[in-house]
Amino acid sequence: MERHKLLRRQIKKYLPANWEENEQLVHFIAAINESYTNYDQDQALSQHAFDIADQEYNEITQKLINEKELRDKSIETLLNSVSQLHEGENTDWISESNDLLNIAQYLNVQVSKRKEIEGQLKRAIRDARNASKAKSQFLSTMSHEIRSPLNVIIGMSHLLQLEDHLPEQVENLEILNIASQNLMLLINDILDYNKIESGKLELDLKPFSLTELITNIKKANSVNAQEKGNQLKLILDSDIPERLIGDGGRLGQIITNLVSNAIKFTNEGTIRMTVSVKKQEGINHLISIRVKDSGIGISKEKQQTIFEQFTQASSNITRQYGGTGLGLAISKRLLELMNSSIEIESEEGEGSTFSFDLWLKEGPSVGKAKFEESDKRDLSGSYILVVDDLEYNLVMIRKILGEWNVKMDLCYNGEEALQRVKEHSYDMVLMDMQMPVMDGKEATREIRKFNRKLPIIAFTALNDQASLDELYSAGMNGYLTKPFNPDEMYNKLRELLNRFDKAELE
Ligand code: ADP
Repeated sequence: MERHKLLRRQIKKYLPANWEENEQLVHFIAAINESYTNYDQDQALSQHAFDIADQEYNEITQKLINEKELRDKSIETLLNSVSQLHEGENTDWISESNDLLNIAQYLNVQVSKRKEIEGQLKRAIRDARNASKAKSQFLSTMSHEIRSPLNVIIGMSHLLQLEDHLPEQVENLEILNIASQNLMLLINDILDYNKIESGKLELDLKPFSLTELITNIKKANSVNAQEKGNQLKLILDSDIPERLIGDGGRLGQIITNLVSNAIKFTNEGTIRMTVSVKKQEGINHLISIRVKDSGIGISKEKQQTIFEQFTQASSNITRQYGGTGLGLAISKRLLELMNSSIEIESEEGEGSTFSFDLWLKEGPSVGKAKFEESDKRDLSGSYILVVDDLEYNLVMIRKILGEWNVKMDLCYNGEEALQRVKEHSYDMVLMDMQMPVMDGKEATREIRKFNRKLPIIAFTALNDQASLDELYSAGMNGYLTKPFNPDEMYNKLRELLNRFDKAELE
């Protein structure tokens, strides 16, 4: 066995040359050699262990430094975000604090506060929605309630106008008539707006003549235009199909609104209505409608708001020109229902142009509607039963039908009507819907048990699809919407009487 270097040197220095002859000494030296070697090995081992520990220690330290940097950065970002959450508030204490626990606690408090605010907001939104619903409901109910007596005022003033009067009475009656018609327009606007807002307005799509519609609007507005020294011009494209399918009534309402606004806001100028076909794809026509005036114009800023409900370009507009600010809001929403949108081009003092494009399908051609307006209205020969629980409605209808020489009976509820129908041979029954004792639908169902041919026409304030479905399923044949205007009522009654005269009712 190789002896340790140090031992070799010591042997050489301290022992005689023949030391190996002494056996005991040889054993002793071997033992020392072993302990020297072991010592070296131990030392090497512990050095190695130490080297490894040192390396690990360095790695861990580096890791800790990195983590600390990351933590400091995270805390800084967190503090920034927290201070931004509370802009304006003194958040120095948070910035100074380096303690995550503190921040976490603070955030916990904030989260609970926010949750509480969120809850309050949710409740406020729910209350606001309920309030808005209640407001719409109230407006609808009141408008319906106001319409019934107003209907009578309009009917009566119409009848009074037919009689002979002193000149000043004629003027007063004219004013009464115009004011009540305006009030009716306003109430109808409120009802329309509410109906659109609550998604209850349905378009009534059927064939109509756009040319006739526009020509009539021009006629109806020409007196107003003249009174303000305005020229009302109509430019009609000859390519417009004779019949188009759409809601002619609602389209007329939109155009009338634009034309009457143009007249209202123009003095001694020109209002030009242009209707043209922009494009055609098969039976689909892109119809363009423009109403251009040379009136007061609307500033760019106001153009943003005039389509909102009850909004006018300026507060003195009401004083100077009247109006409610509902017309354009309704027109805009009606056009949205028709998949169109209204455009405006205007400069203050330079006039305004309102326009929209509408895709409409061509409808079946049926020739011109033949509604020759005879001067003398006459429905003599017809025998009608009128059923309504409101005395003033009956008085008015009696007067109006009397003017047209209708023979009639009047009664107050469905039960009486049932009895009358059994006893007389009427050409038609005009039946109110809501009545005490027996309402219109029930009376109709009863009548249908023994008389399936008698035309029964509902007097109804509601003409949405659901209400109409109900009255048809009760067995009624048609409806007249309340409140009615005597002109419309005459045309409708004549049409219905003719129709049922010819129809083979099963
Ligand atoms: P109303 O005419 O009942 O006030 P509208 O909704 O129809 O309500 O119109 C809203 C407002 O837009 C009007 O009050 C008016 O300020 C402005 N406006 C509408 N049409 C015209 C127009 N042709 N020229 C100038 N201003 C107009």
